[in-house]
Amino acid sequence: MKKFNNGNLKLAIQKEGRLTQDSLAFLRQTGLEFESYQKLLYSSCRNFPLEILYLRDDDIPNYVSTGVVDLGIAGQNILSEKREPVKKLLNLRFGFCSLVIAVPKDSPIKILSDLNGKRIATSYPNSSKVFFKKNNIQADLVQVRGSVEITPAIGVADAIIDLTSTGSTLILQDLRVLTKIYDSEAVLVANNDLSKNKKKLVNNIITRFKGALSAKNYKYINLSAEEKILPRLKKIIPVLGFQYFSFIPQKGKVSVTSVIKEDIFWETIEKLKIMGIKRILVLPIEKMII
Ligand code: ATP
Ligand code: ZN
Repeated sequence: MKKFNNGNLKLAIQKEGRLTQDSLAFLRQTGLEFESYQKLLYSSCRNFPLEILYLRDDDIPNYVSTGVVDLGIAGQNILSEKREPVKKLLNLRFGFCSLVIAVPKDSPIKILSDLNGKRIATSYPNSSKVFFKKNNIQADLVQVRGSVEITPAIGVADAIIDLTSTGSTLILQDLRVLTKIYDSEAVLVANNDLSKNKKKLVNNIITRFKGALSAKNYKYINLSAEEKILPRLKKIIPVLGFQYFSFIPQKGKVSVTSVIKEDIFWETIEKLKIMGIKRILVLPIEKMII
């Protein structure tokens, strides 16, 4: 590992799991070039002084807080659970999931207070304890490391606290969600005491990451509209330096070009359709430096 111990920035990502592919794809989207294949312990970037280290997600917060690595990508859930002192830099908009309390479909547990005195299996004991304390619940936590969702069926627990994204695993196990504890997504975190030199590199990385994130969060649209509705259009299409080019394909028409944020994309398109705009060209954006 001699090569790993150079002055380059070190970033840990999950070695093999739900965050791995999205983390690698995201890093590539930021323009970083590197090799990666399953057996690799770490990769060196060709075009940036960065080493990527592949670890178990549970270990990432500790490696970041102790300075073994400078940066890490992990689920907010793992960070909340491990409570290591690290600096959160960015939400990365992938790895979405929620920590929920679930019970068997036909369980008599209907409201939170029904959990008092019950056995609850989880691999998130810290997050669970915080939630119980806040909601004044006295329950017995059964700590398990995996396959939490089968514990009610095998009689180990009355309820579970586990991660879910689509809810399909819960349904498959005949479980229903009682309540949500928190939502999570992948985040970029950094060590708290980075050297001046590394801070500079991290700022550079953040700019790249933000560029990729904005591109992901926005769509490019182009449409043709009656010139007279332009004032109304300007109100509907949220302004990010609203730009339009009038090349007048026909008299009285304008061609409008803009970007729309992903989370209001469909409602904006609906509004445009109601205004009578039929053809809208939508394109993904590769990068957006703003
Ligand atoms: P490791 O071997 O690295 O410890 P793991 O089995 O603990 O992996 P995964 O199941 O690969 O972890 O999940 C990694 C992360 O993916 C979770 O911590 C969470 O942030 C995110 N995630 C997204 N959707 C889900 C989901 N449906 N269930 C579990 N985790 C999810
Ligand atoms: Zn894990």
